Amino acid sequence: MAETNCIFCKIANGEIPAKRLGESAQAIAFADLNPQAPTHLLIIPKQHLASLAHAADADSALLGELLTFAKTTAAALGVAERGYRLVINTGHDGGQTVHHLHVHLLAGRQMSWPPG
Ligand code: AMP
Ligand code: ZN
Repeated sequence: MAETNCIFCKIANGEIPAKRLGESAQAIAFADLNPQAPTHLLIIPKQHLASLAHAADADSALLGELLTFAKTTAAALGVAERGYRLVINTGHDGGQTVHHLHVHLLAGRQMSWPPG
């Protein structure tokens, strides 16, 4: 179900444009508007889920699909061999600003640790 006023639901259903980079049964990938690395995209479920903290046990197949789709997308974009980072900001302290679950896929430069 789409959530009113959720920007990522609007991207998922085509109401707001985005540079789409792939699609799986339950997820889509699109370029982040404010990239933090040469390759920076977001993997989101098509259905609204506010955050990882809102996922139920029944969502485990969906959560698995987000990761396998991220892996497949990284390979398709040619960044799998050099490596990449997946990030799921969750809640206030996690730095989450858009409240529709998303996996950041960052690649194309050496990442540092710890994250800010
Ligand atoms: P987070 O801080 O983890 O919630 O990340 C939200 C991300 O969504 C940020 O990296 C934003 O640049 C990105 N973002 C926000 N609005 C859009 C949009 N309309 N299209 C693509 N990316 C977006
Ligand atoms: Zn949503």
